[in-house]
Amino acid sequence: MIALTIFFVLIVLIALIFTKKIVELKKGKKQADAQLAGMKINKLSSPGTVKTLSILPLIDYYTDNVDLKTEPGVSYLVSADDTNILLDVGFNKKKEHPSPLLHNMKTLGISVSDIDMIFFSHLHLDHLGGMTEQKEKTFSLSQGSVSLPNVPVYAPARLSASRWNPGPEPQIIKDPVVLKEGIASIGVIPRYLFLMGYTLENALAINVEGKGIVLIIGCGHQTIERIIERTQALFDEPIYAIIGGLHYPVNGGRIMIGPINIQRIVGSDNPPWVSIRETDVQSAISAIKSVSPKIVALSPHDSSDWCIDQFKQAFGDTYVDVKVGQKIEI
Ligand SMILES: [Zn+2]
Ligand SMILES: [Zn+2]
Repeated sequence: MIALTIFFVLIVLIALIFTKKIVELKKGKKQADAQLAGMKINKLSSPGTVKTLSILPLIDYYTDNVDLKTEPGVSYLVSADDTNILLDVGFNKKKEHPSPLLHNMKTLGISVSDIDMIFFSHLHLDHLGGMTEQKEKTFSLSQGSVSLPNVPVYAPARLSASRWNPGPEPQIIKDPVVLKEGIASIGVIPRYLFLMGYTLENALAINVEGKGIVLIIGCGHQTIERIIERTQALFDEPIYAIIGGLHYPVNGGRIMIGPINIQRIVGSDNPPWVSIRETDVQSAISAIKSVSPKIVALSPHDSSDWCIDQFKQAFGDTYVDVKVGQKIEI
């Protein structure tokens, strides 16, 4: 009898929490959409250009090199002319020191002192270096002391300097801004996600001379449709490449708890019974096709193999794999 009562109370509790989350989702989604609609976006004046650009995935879900580590997170070394930008710092799910990021950097011959700027796409665990980092709104390159050079750190919302990597306080950049000749942030796009809640995500836009805008994206919670719309509002140049996460864990995912595809539930602004669908992937493909980019490279950290196959079929020779240690030259 006691066991039955406990079971009943538990069911009621879960139902109550779930109902609360659904109510919050509805409200949050409305607020995020209203905030986006209220943003005044002007063309970037004098964004400048870079002559050369490469993107080297340091952390992502796949690699062809057995000496490198992989995980469902993101860290890319973006080299634009002589500026090295570290976009996000990976997951470090096992709280290691050296972290998979540091291990891969060492294996690839990259030193922390090579980094000129750190740019955070958004403040989720797989981009900040761990769950604790997400909770405490901080970041870490590894779970041990790493002396960071005195480089600027940009984040889309309040973030503290890392206790492991003391350095300057991160600066919040919400608006589109030119960070350096040819290197810009497209500015935050707000979205309210089920369980993850209110999320502000930013992306890098690099203007490559004679080619156009190369977008480098973290998780893609903004939706690619909105990222394209924002980019077109900021630049006259065409979109040349779309590289990074777009969050389509459809028909499979990288973080499973038993049969539950966690990424599909938490990364959506729909309730769990709708979540992220095959039709969303097809809409994304149509939106990307409408701007005819010359390179499309989808991060496998938050999109499924099924989704990657859809992209490969849709984009043919334009599609490039994102793999740790495999440099994408623009
Ligand atoms: Zn992610
Ligand atoms: Zn995310």
